[in-house]
Amino acid sequence: MGSQPRFQSLQGGLVGCLRWMHPLEGAYTRTAKIALVNALDSRALGELLYGSRLLPNSFGPVHGRSFLYGAWAASRAQGGTGQSALPGFLSSLCGGWATVIASDARLRFCQSCADVGYQSALFQIDALSRCPLHGERLRDTCPHCDAPTPRYALTVEGFQSPMQCTACGGGYASAWDGTACFERWGGPLDVRPLQRLARRLQAWESLAVQWPTVSSWIDTPSPDAAGRQRVHVFQALGMLSGLAVLDHGQDSRVSQVKSSCVPCQRPPPRQRERVAIYKSIRRHIMRRLGLAGRGNRFTFSEVFYRQRVNEAVVPRRSSCPAPLHALVIWISRCEARPPAPLLQGLWPLAPDADEPRVRLRTPLLLWPIDVQVSDNVWGHFVWRSFLEDLWTARQWQAAVRPLGEPFDQADREAPEVKANRATFLELLTAWTPRLSPLMETFSSGLSHFTWEEGRGQRQLCLVWTRRFEGAWHDESGTAGPE
Ligand SMILES: [Zn+2]
Ligand SMILES: [Zn+2]
Repeated sequence: MGSQPRFQSLQGGLVGCLRWMHPLEGAYTRTAKIALVNALDSRALGELLYGSRLLPNSFGPVHGRSFLYGAWAASRAQGGTGQSALPGFLSSLCGGWATVIASDARLRFCQSCADVGYQSALFQIDALSRCPLHGERLRDTCPHCDAPTPRYALTVEGFQSPMQCTACGGGYASAWDGTACFERWGGPLDVRPLQRLARRLQAWESLAVQWPTVSSWIDTPSPDAAGRQRVHVFQALGMLSGLAVLDHGQDSRVSQVKSSCVPCQRPPPRQRERVAIYKSIRRHIMRRLGLAGRGNRFTFSEVFYRQRVNEAVVPRRSSCPAPLHALVIWISRCEARPPAPLLQGLWPLAPDADEPRVRLRTPLLLWPIDVQVSDNVWGHFVWRSFLEDLWTARQWQAAVRPLGEPFDQADREAPEVKANRATFLELLTAWTPRLSPLMETFSSGLSHFTWEEGRGQRQLCLVWTRRFEGAWHDESGTAGPE
């Protein structure tokens, strides 16, 4: 370790580093400084600083010793030195939202900030691609060998030689060479852009935002769905606090989210009104699809395949029009017991006089359940649900079309056909939740949260992600609020 200057203070048996810690500095570099100045290895750090043992493994989405969320450390932080690291946990700024908008999978840093010994927990926010202070792209790999950085948590790998690459040993920046470089830990000159961001995060707490279903908002089934979700949640909540336009760190990912916000209302939902709204939306869609004529009848089981267990519906051939597929998913999602003729393909339904009574599924009828909204807003939600199902149907069609009907080939044993069948089944596994009314009562591409504005006035914000494909991609609801 480097020579220790004599003027340092001892706090709880450890040399304090407060004078080298800076506003909004993250707990990672705060802990790293304490480690280097006191020559502590990672195990001693955990025990002497946070009164906690290290975890040999942590496979959860949030590490058990994460620097995002401070619950594990706050209660047992030892002495003044341990306390001095606590403001660096992201949760000290935005509470439980910390793990919803940020990831501890890898330490993310700005090279210029790290050169002056600085990293902020705010850099762990996925939506932030650049440093708000320097405009530099945030890194999560070693600048020397490109090896991934360790987790943003107190781990053995990360704190054997903190802020140095676990693969090549190189320091992540000039302030980190394995010794206490306190003369280089000067911190950035101006952290105001970070402070503005922090104030906006704090606003979410004071607005009393409630979003219990946040983790089931999934815009698309993909391997990076979790990261995309964190970006979208950040953007959606950001709209509440004027965060949609970031000063720096902005890239194309900003504004992927769309929303509509309305005040919540007191009167209970009127079921008959809602059924009427639903029927008018259904008529509108069927007219647009050209399904209003009697010449468009088809046999459901010839066109679609319905999975037995989860009732996911997929077309038998990729030539089936995506809007028709979407309509079938949407009707199955909305109606409690869709009338047999409808699902047998006997379009249109019989003329109004003897049209079977429409029964909506109860969760849909009562949406959004946690609060009450006007029938108009409800209609907007139902229409948006169809647009989500339309997007799903189009994505499905685009994904399976190149496979060339692998279950329909004469030569079923040809290697290419077998490979295509395997791909088809993989796709089906990934997309089944979105195609199944049993697995997703409401499309997971839609979500909503509420917040308190003023005196007890709750607002509801319906959120979804932008869809760019094709016609009908982003129409505002015919029944929606203006
Ligand atoms: Zn920076
Ligand atoms: Zn390296």
